[in-house]
Amino acid sequence: MPTDQPIIITIDGPAGTGKSTVARLLASRLGLDFLDTGAMYRAAAAIMIDRKIEEEDTGTLVSTVMGADLHFDWSQDPPTILAWDTPIDHRIRHADVTKVVSFVASIAELRHHMVRKQRVIGAQHPRLVTEGRDQGSVVFPDAFIKFYLDADPEVRAQRRIDQLGMDTSEISLEEMCRRIVDRDRMDSSRSDGPLVCPSDAIRVDTSEIEVEGVVDLLERRTRERIAATLDNGR
Ligand code: C5P
Repeated sequence: MPTDQPIIITIDGPAGTGKSTVARLLASRLGLDFLDTGAMYRAAAAIMIDRKIEEEDTGTLVSTVMGADLHFDWSQDPPTILAWDTPIDHRIRHADVTKVVSFVASIAELRHHMVRKQRVIGAQHPRLVTEGRDQGSVVFPDAFIKFYLDADPEVRAQRRIDQLGMDTSEISLEEMCRRIVDRDRMDSSRSDGPLVCPSDAIRVDTSEIEVEGVVDLLERRTRERIAATLDNGR
């Protein structure tokens, strides 16, 4: 694989499809950087809660998030996110953040800010695997290759429970499934940057494939496309 050329790989899809893990492993196999854009929206949601900004006060939220200068520490693997130069990785995965993040991510002005930031990151890290909801459709429409991961809601709910280290006495599968489907609905129905499968993306249903199998598949498809591009250039 050429190591001197830009290559942006996008991975989009709903919650619980394994995007983050798959994107991180794919980036490591291909020697690329990894960007978790959900962390940026989660950071904005954490700021809203912790600074006690009312949901209606979107102007204050957007200006506060802009002032926080969200950025990643690329010396860490995976890169950690900072606000006001303070790492906030531990904070952004809390349940109160997950509860409001889709609302925060539906604020158009905030999305524009995030999209601009993500494009700057893409320019500074042009060899990148980036994952989220709108990476192939909005942020990097000219990406080298685009993937869209999907899975049955029950499978995604079970994965989320496992990921959070919970068991079904703390939250039932039905309740987690309901929360995930609610979040999907909000993410898919917003007017700005909704969750969609780009028409030129490769769609992968991960319901019955283990993480390593998904990474194998994405790596294979990427290497095939690189080989085809090199052949065409000859
Ligand atoms: O991927 P993760 O679950 O961390 O994303 C949290 C939320 O951030 C999503 O449910 C979605 O509302 C929002 N998001 C987004 N666009 C992205 C990434 C995440 O709207 N590119």
